Amino acid sequence: MVDRPLVLMAVHAHPDDEATGTGGVLAKYAAEGIETVLVTCTDGGCGDGPGGIKPADPAHDAAVVVALRAEELRRSAEILGVTHLEQLGYADSGMLGWPQNEAPHAFWNTPVAEAAQRLAELMRRYRPDVVVTYDEYGFYGHPDHIQAHRITMAAVEATGVPAKVYWTTVPRSAFAQFQKVFEEFAPAGAELPEADPDAPQVGVPDEEVTTFVDVAAFGKQKFAALEAHASQGENILFLQMGQERFTELMGVETFLRVRDSTGAALPEDDLFAGLR
Ligand SMILES: [Zn+2]
Repeated sequence: MVDRPLVLMAVHAHPDDEATGTGGVLAKYAAEGIETVLVTCTDGGCGDGPGGIKPADPAHDAAVVVALRAEELRRSAEILGVTHLEQLGYADSGMLGWPQNEAPHAFWNTPVAEAAQRLAELMRRYRPDVVVTYDEYGFYGHPDHIQAHRITMAAVEATGVPAKVYWTTVPRSAFAQFQKVFEEFAPAGAELPEADPDAPQVGVPDEEVTTFVDVAAFGKQKFAALEAHASQGENILFLQMGQERFTELMGVETFLRVRDSTGAALPEDDLFAGLR
């Protein structure tokens, strides 16, 4: 047991990732008096511009997108009750193979040790008991998500600060539900991207999930946080579902526990099991 306020740190790649993957736990634990630290590694400059302008469009102005997304992130963090919002400010690397991968300040182009050192400083300052990030594949292969995973694990290794470390995941049984929702809400003619047969499979078999946190009571905050990021095309599908359906689909957040010094029994329903 620790005799100071418990601290949760979530490390994410882009503005808006905090809402979909961990909006529920951020809101829930903040409501329980736990200090929350949100670290967003990139500026989101490869996102959609105002009016849905895509990054390949010559009218796309990364500086405008960065300012817009910083404001959306600030609003989302406020809705989720985030105690400390930290932006590392690396340039969004875009999807794998995009020219932005090679930009000098691109997150993907930054040595892991360099970015990990900055994150380690934050871990030493905030002393998180629990740290959450993505799996080695960045959940779906985005270079910035992979890099966020790498720097987080390196910072954990260097500092030894958190008692528990988690990777966000999705049980494979949930994909059938996502498919159904996609068919119902996606615009006519839209198709789910073909899975790359050479890429690792997204999510894990249900029995491998270690931690299920029921965040349905915080569905309103999670949905509102995502609404704060309405400029991004991929969020619109979720927003079209409405809060109730969204909460049904996303009301339990699931994780893989990959580091633990508490000995809390698995499966567990609380990221802080064994710490309070
Ligand atoms: Zn992202």
